[in-house]
Amino acid sequence: MNTPMSAATSTPMLEIDGIRAGYKDAVAIDGVSLRVAQGEVVCLLGANGAGKTTTMRAVTGLIPLMKGTIRYQGEDISNMPAHDRVTAGICLSPEGRQIFPDLTVMENLVLGSFNPRARALRKEGLERVFTLFPRLLERTTQAAGSMSGGEQQMLAIARALMGQPKLLALDEPSLGLSPKMVTAVFESIRAIASSGITILLVEQNTRAALTIAQRGYVLSTGQVVHQGTAEDLAQSEMVQKAFIGSAHLHGGRRSRRDRRLAAAANGAPHAAG
Ligand code: ATP
Repeated sequence: MNTPMSAATSTPMLEIDGIRAGYKDAVAIDGVSLRVAQGEVVCLLGANGAGKTTTMRAVTGLIPLMKGTIRYQGEDISNMPAHDRVTAGICLSPEGRQIFPDLTVMENLVLGSFNPRARALRKEGLERVFTLFPRLLERTTQAAGSMSGGEQQMLAIARALMGQPKLLALDEPSLGLSPKMVTAVFESIRAIASSGITILLVEQNTRAALTIAQRGYVLSTGQVVHQGTAEDLAQSEMVQKAFIGSAHLHGGRRSRRDRRLAAAANGAPHAAG
């Protein structure tokens, strides 16, 4: 798959230019630059601790920039508060899901549509997420924390969709899921992308990410070390190293898990039939 035709001519959805960010005095990412065109799916790859989540937090305004700029639809949002970014259409499905376990599925979804723009479109938002995730419709009154890991991940993505995103930031949507659920979640992401929503995707499951992304960036120790089309990255020795590197860091157990996820991801494109 290639970059959409409009990408070269229209204003990018997201332009990150030389950003530095971190935690207290510790710099976690430095000099990161990347670009996401309207309607594109772009993935951030890299081993544990490479700075993927930190980049997502900087984009969504959860941590401040120490340096550099972030532009969204041409506007400099480097100093814009996180809640204003949500209203502007940057919605995050965070790593670890962070749903409210004691609230029902419906209550979690409604909280996702709290920004003024999304509140007005709540009914349409619910229709959209229930079409995408029929399983959530069957469980509207169930406590979110009592659902399976895969269902909770669907809820986390659905809650972000309830914010009416133009740019959907998905941080590790396949983390901890069974191969079957990985396939289901990636099919949902594919459907969201087909509906025209721009996606910035952080994934340790490199192969799965490259099946749905048009382009990607590889981060290592807080810097972009490689970038290219999904096809180029899939062939790249650098990406092979990042993939194997992340599995290696976790030892044998993670390594087996990563291999399972990769196997599931390889099946993903065919699962849609
Ligand atoms: P993973 O795949 O494990 O989530 P990542 O690529 O998303 O990794 P980050 O979570 O962005 O990496 O971490 C980048 C660096 O920032 C790491 O050195 C990490 O230890 C550090 N870091 C992340 N979160 C915090 C935090 N809340 N406080 C202090 N340091 C942090």
